[in-house]
Amino acid sequence: MNTPNERQGGLASSRAHSARVYDYILGGKDHYPADVEAGDAMVRHWPALPVHMLENRRFMHRAARYLAEEQGVRQFLDVGTGLPTSPNLHEIVQEVAPESHVVYVDNDPIVLAHARALLESSPEGATAYVDANMHDPEAILESTEFRELIDLERPVGLMVIGIMHFILPPDDRRLVQRLLDPLPSGSYLAMTIGTGDFAPQEVGRVAEEYRQQGMPMALRDLATATSFFDGLELVDPGVTQVHTWRPGPEQDGVDGRDIAMYGAVARKP
Ligand code: SAH
Repeated sequence: MNTPNERQGGLASSRAHSARVYDYILGGKDHYPADVEAGDAMVRHWPALPVHMLENRRFMHRAARYLAEEQGVRQFLDVGTGLPTSPNLHEIVQEVAPESHVVYVDNDPIVLAHARALLESSPEGATAYVDANMHDPEAILESTEFRELIDLERPVGLMVIGIMHFILPPDDRRLVQRLLDPLPSGSYLAMTIGTGDFAPQEVGRVAEEYRQQGMPMALRDLATATSFFDGLELVDPGVTQVHTWRPGPEQDGVDGRDIAMYGAVARKP
C-alpha cells in the first residue's frame, strides 16, 4: 500500500479507480483501500476475474512480441497503459529490437505518479508518457511526446488493451478511428474488448459493481467486437477470446468460461 501524497489524496484515493483495481487483482502494490474493497467485491461476484485479467495482460505480451518479431514494427502507441507491471510493452519490444519507441498514454494520476518505470528505455530506443484521456485523441496525437517519438512515415502499432470496456458507445468507434487515421499503411491495431458472451451472469455482476463504483462499462458481443476492425485486415486467427489468440504453453488449461475478453490484431491496408 502506498501512502497517498498531497496531490493524490482526497477524492482521488477515496474512490476506486480502474487502473488500481486492475493492479490489486493482478497482485500489484499500487492501490488504496477503496480499490481493495471494490476488487474484493468483484472477485466475489466472479472468482475467475484474476485469470481473466492475467490472460488479457498476456495477450498484450504476445501481440506486442508478434508485431515486433514477425512484422518488424518499431514504434508503438499504447493507450490505457495501466500501472507499470513488468514486463511492460517497451520491455517486450525492446528485447526484440532495442531501438523501438513506445509512447504510453493513461489518464489516471496514479499511473502518472509511477510513470518513471515506463521511462526506463533501452539506450538505443525511447519511451515517453502522455497524461491524456482517450476521449481527447487530439491531445494524444498533438502531444510533444507523440510527435517526437513517432515517425508517421513508418508503421506504428496502436495498442488498445483492456480499456475499451470503459469507452462507451456512441463515441467508441470514432475514437479508435481517430487514433488510426494518421498512421501509415502497414500499421497495426491490437485491441482487447470485454464481453459477456461466455459467463453472462458473472460478468454482468462485475460490470454492475464497476458501475456502482462510478465506472460504467460496455460489454460487446462478437459481431460488435469484430466491427471495430472494419476496413482493416485481421491477422490469423481473427477475433478470438484472448487466451486462444496465438496461445503459448502458458495458456494450456485455461477455461474459456473464465475469459471475458476478445482480442485481435489487424493491419491497416
Ligand atoms: N493496458 C493495460 C492496462 C489495462 S487497465 C493492460 O491491458 O494490462 C485500463 C487502463 O485504462 C487503466 O490504467 C485506466 O486508467 C485507463 N483508462 C480508462 N479510461 C481511460 C481514458 N478515458 N483515457 C485514458 N486511459 C483510460
